[in-house]
Amino acid sequence: MSGSYDLISIGGGSGGLAVAQRAAEYGARALVVEPAPLGGTCVNVGCVPKKVMWNAASIAHALHDAGEYGFAAGTDRPVEWARLKASRDAYVARLNGIYERNLDKKGITWVRGRARFVDAHTVIVGDRTFSAPHIVIATGGRPVVPAVPGAERGITSDGFFGLDALPPRVAVIGTGYVAVELGGTLAALGARVSLFMRQERILRSFDTMLSAALMTELEADGVELIAHAVVAGIQAAGSAHRIVLADAREFGDFDCVLWAIGRQPVTADLGLERIGVATYDDGVVITDRFQATNVEGVYAIGDVTGREALTPVAIAAGRRLADRLFNGQHERHLDYELIPTVVFSHPPIGTIGLTESSARELHGDAVRIYRSSFVPLYHALTARKRRAEMKLVCVGEEERVVGLHVIGAGADEMLQGFAVAMKMGACKADFDNTVAIHPTSAEELVTMR
Ligand code: FAD
Ligand code: NDP
Repeated sequence: MSGSYDLISIGGGSGGLAVAQRAAEYGARALVVEPAPLGGTCVNVGCVPKKVMWNAASIAHALHDAGEYGFAAGTDRPVEWARLKASRDAYVARLNGIYERNLDKKGITWVRGRARFVDAHTVIVGDRTFSAPHIVIATGGRPVVPAVPGAERGITSDGFFGLDALPPRVAVIGTGYVAVELGGTLAALGARVSLFMRQERILRSFDTMLSAALMTELEADGVELIAHAVVAGIQAAGSAHRIVLADAREFGDFDCVLWAIGRQPVTADLGLERIGVATYDDGVVITDRFQATNVEGVYAIGDVTGREALTPVAIAAGRRLADRLFNGQHERHLDYELIPTVVFSHPPIGTIGLTESSARELHGDAVRIYRSSFVPLYHALTARKRRAEMKLVCVGEEERVVGLHVIGAGADEMLQGFAVAMKMGACKADFDNTVAIHPTSAEELVTMR
């Protein structure tokens, strides 16, 4: 099979499927090239199975609290990992099937394989050739594994989703989303977790209030936080692993070592150099605000562009690109300002906009901060008091809300509506003029003084 199309998407993940589907809705003939089950990172080894595991961890926490809410003792019981994994994998497989049927319904062709550019309008997939005036690079990213001795003894987030049993002792290396989400989940489900930080803090690009609060919560959940820990290698210790640090400290023994030190774009084998698509040294494809590369007719969306590596960002960029190419919306593009994001830690973090320190750098004394720190009502009955922390970062006389940061139960579901308000330019007075919902944690955000 070979052929010509109106649009080819290289990659059938969040971004690639979104651009192809939106293009097909406008009548374009779209082709998706994807070697793996449809859905990409998010569906197969990212957001979706991660959220299932986060739910399981939330249930473990609830079971822990159940006695204090009057439930019979003995509800604090271990998870049956194999059963959980089987249900999770079955759900992911169902989603793969739904994605496949959606392509069929929309008349989109799916070619299984890896695409490589021959010229700016042509790709080869194995021995087949496909051409289109518009080709979208949506190949996403893969986890980074550093070049240190024994690194291959560790797994990445991809390997986490393949684990057949809960590893009793886990070393997590890294401080970002994956480290705190998967580390926290493993701890909640019963593993002894040590988290290795190159510096002294987790989530260093987040508002300091959030990273400090989550460090407290992780430690309260039994996670050991090891600072100034630059990993020099992983050694065998019988069937287990030992972590050796650059300063010669050694830690072990661990049943599982999880690298969670970031992701790199998947661009090496695409033949980009052949058609002259410009990338940064790390392989990130350089795009303008219309997702266009420097080569006419070649675009890039999603993680491969090195912008916010989030599923809704890839989807939004893909849909807007199709709106522009196939529906005459010539100025349509994604505005990368004020993108809300949630860290699925326990408790979760919801954050959007400027941190306090970046606001002060930009706006100096024009910044006004409102903060709230409290124990949510849920914990009135529990011995363990898990605090909630909230911060509004406001700027100027009108006190425009330019940053909103929350850690606490419900923060994940709280953020979306506030993001709408901020996108519309809400000021502190607008928050104050909104009647609170009681008793919730969210009400604190409209009652701060
Ligand atoms: P991907 O979804 O990675 O899709 C790229 C696809 O391209 C892949 O399927 C790949 O097989 C294919 N491909 C690669 N090379 C080729 C080639 N040469 N030819 C054809 N196909 C190719 N984001 C959130 O918003 N919320 C979350 O809760 C969240 N949780 C996450 C948890 C984890 C553990 C991880 C790792 C990520 C998480 N993310 C989350 C991020 C999210 O998964 C990504 O931002 C999103 O999947 C990016 O979409 P994409 O289309 O750019 O790339
Ligand atoms: P992140 O970029 O979030 O964090 C990785 C961190 O690891 C870095 O910030 C850095 O922190 C540290 N690090 C980097 N290199 C090394 C090294 N060589 N040794 C030790 N530590 C190192 O990466 P993740 O892999 O956690 O996640 C990738 C992306 O996927 C995220 O940025 C996010 O966009 C997306 N994602 C989104 C989720 C969500 O929406 N809930 C969930 C999971 C992923 P420091 O400088 O402090 O050492």
